[in-house]
Amino acid sequence: MDDSPMIDEVESTVEDAPNEAPDPIGSKTDSTVESDEETTLTIEEATPTYDFAPDKRRCESCGETTATRWHDSEAGMVCIECKEW
Ligand SMILES: [Zn+2]
Repeated sequence: MDDSPMIDEVESTVEDAPNEAPDPIGSKTDSTVESDEETTLTIEEATPTYDFAPDKRRCESCGETTATRWHDSEAGMVCIECKEW
């Protein structure tokens, strides 16, 4: 006799869920996918090309010799002081 009320509650809960779920989940999934792609592209472009040369290379911006250089889209391979982050 206790089983009947419980089944009734479960059925009403299942019926309610599908009515609320589709809209919020649908729009959230769309925007998430779009921003996800944009974030990936931005990270790839912003990631500096790191170059380490034990014998030291010249910074193409200030002429300073440094073992560690980064690629700058305008100046080329530059030292850490010339690299714009
Ligand atoms: Zn420099």
